Amino acid sequence: MLSPVTTTPKSLDDYREIVGEEVITEIRNLAAPLRGARLIHLNSTAFGGGVAEMLTSLVPLMNDVGLKAEWQVIRGDEKFFNVTKTMHDCLQGTSVSWNQYTTRVWLQYNQMNAKLFDQDYDYVIVHDPQPAGILKMLETGDKARHGKWLWRCHIDLTEGQENVWQFLEPFVEIYDGVIFSLEDYVKESLGTARIFILPPAIDPLSPKNIELSPEVIAQVLSPYGVNLNRPLILQVSRFDKAKNPWGVIDAYRLVKREVPWVQLALVTSLAQDDPDSRDYFEHVAKYAGGDYDVYLLTNLVGVGNVEVNALQRSARVVIQNSAREGFGLVVSEALWKGRPVVAGNAGGIPLQIIYGKTGYLVNTVEECANRIAYLLKHPQVAERMGQAGKEHVRQNFLITRYLRDYLKILNRLSGRPGGPVTGGLEYRSG
Ligand code: UDP
Repeated sequence: MLSPVTTTPKSLDDYREIVGEEVITEIRNLAAPLRGARLIHLNSTAFGGGVAEMLTSLVPLMNDVGLKAEWQVIRGDEKFFNVTKTMHDCLQGTSVSWNQYTTRVWLQYNQMNAKLFDQDYDYVIVHDPQPAGILKMLETGDKARHGKWLWRCHIDLTEGQENVWQFLEPFVEIYDGVIFSLEDYVKESLGTARIFILPPAIDPLSPKNIELSPEVIAQVLSPYGVNLNRPLILQVSRFDKAKNPWGVIDAYRLVKREVPWVQLALVTSLAQDDPDSRDYFEHVAKYAGGDYDVYLLTNLVGVGNVEVNALQRSARVVIQNSAREGFGLVVSEALWKGRPVVAGNAGGIPLQIIYGKTGYLVNTVEECANRIAYLLKHPQVAERMGQAGKEHVRQNFLITRYLRDYLKILNRLSGRPGGPVTGGLEYRSG
């Protein structure tokens, strides 16, 4: 068996107050024909990053509406996760090298994980490239396919290295369907019959996003030394080139010239499937120098979901300085908390940031600093944007919409109508 992940039960009814009766009824109706269906999500990590974040909520909600949903994580070690990180970087366009060694390791671990995949399901949803080879390995091993298989791609493949995509493509085009986060990310060459578009979403009732009182916020943040009476700006993300924490420090230094009391918090988690993260952390720490107003916070000092929630709620402006981004869940998280967001014009961020209404899209450090300083000096504008952002997320990026669209996709795969997926966007229906 692969490694099962246990989740805490959730009830769809608890979301009624936030999303309204109509949404709850629609979800229950879509789930009715799927009652009792066995479904499994496979991915590479149980914590850290957007995929794990969403599965933590999606899996229990799928169970609550009547499916028998499970989540398992593939097995791997540092060698494999170094290789999958390389593959991920290649597919996102970084100039690292994919070679015979990385190919061999990826194949070997997919083969091993296929052997550990030992039960039959009605639906198997495989997330991202790390475990994508399992289906082909099973079929090459003469195991007949059982159920419908979906490959759920969370990353932006548009600038990826073509040779790495060509390597991966034969493994994914045998799936019954492929899901991308944005229409722009669809690989036209893909032979798969059915392609769906499914932008990610956040859970408003998770510890990461649930409402917190000012007293709780103060208590949660007290060990970390951040002064809640002074303006705080924040970025929460892995430390890597795509998320560019160095650029955030540069922008903060420019802002500080105009708003001397400003503090910066950079939060990162050192993730199991991201072995480079420690090196990057040291690099960023050096870059920040000995500035007492810069806080580098990680899961290793206890900064988990509630702490991130409290920091996002305390920040006057949230930054997401990405040069590349799959979707950028952190943007929706911040908007949901009524914070304006200044972010790189990349990936799924423009879906979330309506320029001048819910935040600002920026392309340079100077632009980023100017917009942050403007929002710090104009709290009423910041407040207005935050409220607009919250409404935008309520309409488009909550887990209930995500669950609904998954149910539609599953119904479609089983030949039931299921209604249009995300505003009518079934990209290719075979
Ligand atoms: N996250 C976190 N702690 C960290 C860094 C990230 O809890 O130190 C969470 C963040 O709040 C979000 C997810 O991990 O829920 C990151 O998702 P996103 O789509 O922004 O980026 P990804 O890492 O998937 O590229």
